[in-house]
Amino acid sequence: MARTKKVLPEGVKVMFEAVTGRPRGQGIFGIEDEGDEVARQAKLQRMAERIGEYDRGYEGNRRRCPQCGQWQQYKGDASREVVVEGGTLTVVRAYYVCPRCHTASYPLDEQLGLGEEHEQGRLREKLALVAVLVVSSSAARVPNAVGQ
Ligand SMILES: [Zn+2]
Repeated sequence: MARTKKVLPEGVKVMFEAVTGRPRGQGIFGIEDEGDEVARQAKLQRMAERIGEYDRGYEGNRRRCPQCGQWQQYKGDASREVVVEGGTLTVVRAYYVCPRCHTASYPLDEQLGLGEEHEQGRLREKLALVAVLVVSSSAARVPNAVGQ
């Protein structure tokens, strides 16, 4: 009887070992890993090139303040790290500050649709999905916990 209680934890452990214990760098797995790495680097390279085409989001010496409509002044460039699937991109963006309401804005963030989080794009979508799944699986346990 004591053994049946251990079945689930052992099964989970075996699955985990099957994933981490897979021979890497040998045969078809090694070739596939190498292909994944080439694809990952090509993706990051392409993303960096495409983002570079936006020229930092620079819109000239001034732009309208999204908060109050006053003219914001270009103040220079600031970099931020954007974490995407497969890696981190350092993005340099022009920024503007409003002399009236002191709001800072980054046109490139607006053009790319970047939020304030480090994680962006599909990675952010996946993290949001995981959060939903965790919440719903926790919610599924609530009736059991209440019933016991
Ligand atoms: Zn303003």
